[in-house]
Amino acid sequence: MTGQENESAIIKAQRMRKGETKMDADYRMTFTFENNEAAEKAKAIAAEVIMKTVQSHYFSNAAEELVSKMMVLNNAVVVPEGCGSLLAEETMETVSVIVKAIANNMPGCPFKYESVGEDEYQEAWNDGSFDGKTLEINTTFYPAGYTKYVSCPECGEYVVRIEDYVPGKLYVCPDCGEEVDLSESYEEVAPIVEKTTVTF
Ligand SMILES: [Zn+2]
Repeated sequence: MTGQENESAIIKAQRMRKGETKMDADYRMTFTFENNEAAEKAKAIAAEVIMKTVQSHYFSNAAEELVSKMMVLNNAVVVPEGCGSLLAEETMETVSVIVKAIANNMPGCPFKYESVGEDEYQEAWNDGSFDGKTLEINTTFYPAGYTKYVSCPECGEYVVRIEDYVPGKLYVCPDCGEEVDLSESYEEVAPIVEKTTVTF
């Protein structure tokens, strides 16, 4: 994504608030416990913290929609794919709030979780686990969407997969046939990975 496209995202957001346009977004979440009883308890805790704290910058009724889509299935609290009232970054923040609330209110009760949030511009993943005492929160945020390749700055052709990119290495664009400096292109698509732990 270029700076110009970032700017257009802001303009689009302003238009959305005026009701002039609509953003497509989607998220799914799974919080897995040792049994359904624990999952039911966690669902109630999650619903409470969601209704108290979750607000989308772009969508109305984000908290209500998320709570209404939560269900308990096979020892897990599940929010199925197809829910779309949080942006990618908001999904990531929301899941962190939910897991902290569950860990805080259910000490000694282990669980693991994962989520994906995506919108037209960005994508964010969460995963982690709680061992009954320490909560691990891992987030991976793709500021320009989950792009599998770093593209040629001249022609946009895919040059190298994100995970194979080596800083400082010279790459040749398969389309231009020229040596290209991919450092700026990489900055735009590189995932931002954060790992934190919270002890309760
Ligand atoms: Zn090229």
